[in-house]
Amino acid sequence: MKLVGKILLGLAALVGFMLVRTVVLLPAGTPVTLKEPAVEQSTIDRVAARLSKAITYRTISWSYAQAPDAFAFNGFHKFLAETYPLAHQTMELEKVSEYSLMYRWPAAKPGDKQPIAFMAHIDVVPVPEYGLAKWTHAPFEGVIDDDGVLWGRGAMDDKAMLITLMEAAETLIADGFQPDRDIYFLFGHDEELGGANGAVVMADMLKSRNVELEWAVDEGSAMVQGVVPGVQSPMALISLGEKGFVTLRFSAEDEGGHSSAPKSYTAASLAARAGARVMDNPHPLEIDGFLEQFLLTVAPEMNFTSRFAAANMWLTRPLLTAGLANNSATAAFMHTTTAFTMMKSGIKPNILPQYGEAIVNYRVHPRDTVAGVVARAKEIIDDERVTVTQFGGKEATRMSSVDSEGYSMIAETVKEVFGDIPTAPTLTVQGTDGRHYYGVAKDVYRFMPFVFQPTDLKRIHGTDEAVDIVSLARQVGFFEALIKRAAE
Ligand SMILES: [Zn+2]
Repeated sequence: MKLVGKILLGLAALVGFMLVRTVVLLPAGTPVTLKEPAVEQSTIDRVAARLSKAITYRTISWSYAQAPDAFAFNGFHKFLAETYPLAHQTMELEKVSEYSLMYRWPAAKPGDKQPIAFMAHIDVVPVPEYGLAKWTHAPFEGVIDDDGVLWGRGAMDDKAMLITLMEAAETLIADGFQPDRDIYFLFGHDEELGGANGAVVMADMLKSRNVELEWAVDEGSAMVQGVVPGVQSPMALISLGEKGFVTLRFSAEDEGGHSSAPKSYTAASLAARAGARVMDNPHPLEIDGFLEQFLLTVAPEMNFTSRFAAANMWLTRPLLTAGLANNSATAAFMHTTTAFTMMKSGIKPNILPQYGEAIVNYRVHPRDTVAGVVARAKEIIDDERVTVTQFGGKEATRMSSVDSEGYSMIAETVKEVFGDIPTAPTLTVQGTDGRHYYGVAKDVYRFMPFVFQPTDLKRIHGTDEAVDIVSLARQVGFFEALIKRAAE
């Protein structure tokens, strides 16, 4: 009895401690609304007209087998030079692999601040023939409708970023602003194909010139609203890194024969089992540092249970991990994902197949390596009859720091321009040009000063890509503020 009493008392003290921790560490916040800085109508109209024009250049990346359309890319270059004369007088411009643009905005006088870089890409993905009819407005006309929405391929990905950066530079130069450090604008022309002729070459050039960037910003994350379950406030998500990827083929061969006298396996069953085994043995889920910080940032917005769990992660980590694993989108942040996507075997129901294969696509988490993923798959399959073949393979990037000049400048500029909204680090699950600059930049971030609603995510690379022209104009203000903060 006495012992039970002690245990109960201990438990009560523990729960009390956890409750206090919750209330002290993560008090309930009130949802914050986005500060919507006033922008002059003339600015909105000017920026919108320029992005509209930019969209009309069909700077499409088809494939590396097909050369870029010189007419479209050169036309786009000329349009930039004519539209941003001050930027072109002040900044040095090099064309790289003909179509990528590397601008250097030189410091007024040499100082000890390391240069910084802003990235965007000129190319866009094609609009497939079958999707064309579904567009509300033709994708390469840059239509601005009566509701102030600008439609077209590249409206978000990524000509908005490019135009608002140029616009910010032009405005600052007109105001007499001179940076106290070099600022690069790095505009690749083949991001949608992987950046081999654009970002990769520009990064090599910077490296050969011993340029070391303090930090760099690219597309790949943004402000979101209604995307994080249970969080009402808009949030700024600054991405610190990118996942890698690799595809594996598990194949099996067999002599075949009539299906009336099968062995205990077929080439089909071996391949299918290999695929199923890796699916059934996913990479372990873990809440990493960035995700922990993300959870602590969003928790004040969430219900008491979520706050209690986040404030007491020392105890609730397994529960929290299991909870996040229930949602495939959040699970993707916690591990290397495994997707058994294709299989092929057999030609007739009554013929034993001579060949079978399963194709599995992995997205590699920054704490894993491609080689580690391949080795783990072989170990799990553990079947000599199955051949594992690797296709491609790109390592994840390292995660940039959250305690750096770059991260805090982006976060502070968000507060300055958009109000006191929560800012949290994240991981990008797609690829961007940013991954190529880890060798020349101490830190690479991904952030677009634009609020993505859940419906926007479908439009990128999809049908009806569009941007609201008022938020477009606000992006210019953000980049002006960030450049001033970083280089004044
Ligand atoms: Zn893009």
